[in-house]
Amino acid sequence: MAYIKLNSKNYFYNLDLISDKAGGKEKVFVVLKDNAYGHGLKEMASLASAYGIKRAVVKNLKEATQIKNLFEEILILSEILREKPDENISVTANSIDSLFLLPKKINVHLKIDTGMHRNGIDRKDIKNAFKIIKKRELFLKGVMTHFRSADELSSELFWQRENWREVKNEVKKICKEFSIPVPAFHSCNSAALFRLKEHEDDFVRCGIATYGYLETDPIFDPPKLKPVLSLWANKISSRVLKKGERVGYGGVFTAQKDMIISTYDIGYGDGFFRNDGKKELKTAEGKRILGRVSMDNISCEGESEEILVFEDAKRLAKHFNTISYEILTKLSSDIKRVVI
Ligand SMILES: *Cc1c(COP(=O)(O)O)cnc(C)c1O
Repeated sequence: MAYIKLNSKNYFYNLDLISDKAGGKEKVFVVLKDNAYGHGLKEMASLASAYGIKRAVVKNLKEATQIKNLFEEILILSEILREKPDENISVTANSIDSLFLLPKKINVHLKIDTGMHRNGIDRKDIKNAFKIIKKRELFLKGVMTHFRSADELSSELFWQRENWREVKNEVKKICKEFSIPVPAFHSCNSAALFRLKEHEDDFVRCGIATYGYLETDPIFDPPKLKPVLSLWANKISSRVLKKGERVGYGGVFTAQKDMIISTYDIGYGDGFFRNDGKKELKTAEGKRILGRVSMDNISCEGESEEILVFEDAKRLAKHFNTISYEILTKLSSDIKRVVI
């Protein structure tokens, strides 16, 4: 059966670099949304907790519930809860409307739109938000924003950070006015953390870097992180493909000589991208994937019982003109995870 190996040593290595840069592991929210970027939520949450991480970010309550015993705080990014969750679960308020919909007496992190224009309230609505938060007896634990271009070769990060600095000052002023404690601030994702000389917040929210990747432009000299995940597949069957015979759907690959080929149990149904066979794609060990990727199979030359399909998502991302995030998050949660 195909399986995913999770390299705990590499994960801890990445967390070391991230904690150092963030100013301590207590400053790090590990982002475990979308099944921990396809790695496996429970497995990665257990490892993060064992390492000493106290905070995690997830997509919804379903994910939060699965790991609720492992962290002091779990922040839900994009579900508007209708019922009060456990005490260590917080929700992101992405709009003024959501502040009216959330149940009373729950922990919220208020997101401010400082330029991405995806989620978060407008800067001019901050005071109004504070009034609603007070009236609805919500507990304001954090104020946050998200940078839209931290990994790109432009100065956008810096004007957005300027906006964020202004927002923080404004929030501090309003807190004084309302006689409430200043909430925790957080803004940096992986790219911003490593791009900026120093982050200036209470927490950072790191996803992709914990898994060993950064999509940052090489000019920023990003740190050498180590991929945590590798995808392995096992042999289903072998056969001889005679010179001139073709393999798989459409018969896209033609044997130039007699060759022994084998089929392995991974395919696009498992979330491995469907190569159409027109452009050559190789496994991590340099075996060419012959012809089209099927729903549950790929074919390669040779007879080995097991193959390493990939261990560097960035190489595949380049092939498919996408980003490492997508290659990883697509991997089916049904694939067995093995922590080493
Ligand atoms: C996904 C996400 C992150 C993590 O981003 P990475 O680039 O993976 O570090 C941080 N904050 C928010 C709001 C996110 O949606």
